Amino acid sequence: MTGVESRNAGCPVKWCDETGTHAVHRKYLASVPGAIRGAGLVGVNLAQRKQPRASVCVELTVTTPWASTAGHLFAAASVPEIAAALTEAAERATELDAARHRNGE
Ligand SMILES: [Zn+2]
Repeated sequence: MTGVESRNAGCPVKWCDETGTHAVHRKYLASVPGAIRGAGLVGVNLAQRKQPRASVCVELTVTTPWASTAGHLFAAASVPEIAAALTEAAERATELDAARHRNGE
């Protein structure tokens, strides 16, 4: 048995990282720290509900020590627009923060 086969024991979906019983196939792609209070992770996964004809989606999760993990599934086609909006929002936030610092706030 290879390592890949043992890692996916029990799930027939080749790209799925989940083991044991699960309702959603999931591949964990990235885990990014970045919460304001310094504790918390944003996860980016591939996810597909175990339903007939369910499409593979992009899942964003937020994990913090003080609340249960929240997740949301996005249609793959909508993700570039969301990513562009996030990037623009981050640029604006950085500019506004820099302006505040220049003004001595
Ligand atoms: Zn699976």
